[in-house]
Amino acid sequence: MPKLDFSAINKSSAKSYHAQKNMIKNIGKGRTVLCPTCQQVLTLCVSANNTTGVSCVQGCTSISLEVEA
Ligand SMILES: [Zn+2]
Repeated sequence: MPKLDFSAINKSSAKSYHAQKNMIKNIGKGRTVLCPTCQQVLTLCVSANNTTGVSCVQGCTSISLEVEA
């Protein structure tokens, strides 16, 4: 009976978390970052409840991060 390997899942989600953080960091620096799905430019937006979000025109990438006070 095969054992489930959760370490691989955790590893990939941690990796994508860092990738998302880097993405937002680069956009914050004024760099152009493209959506990995549709290749459109990702834009940074801050909503009224202090949530920073990154999204593309088509909406296939929609990342939101809470801003640390
Ligand atoms: Zn997209």
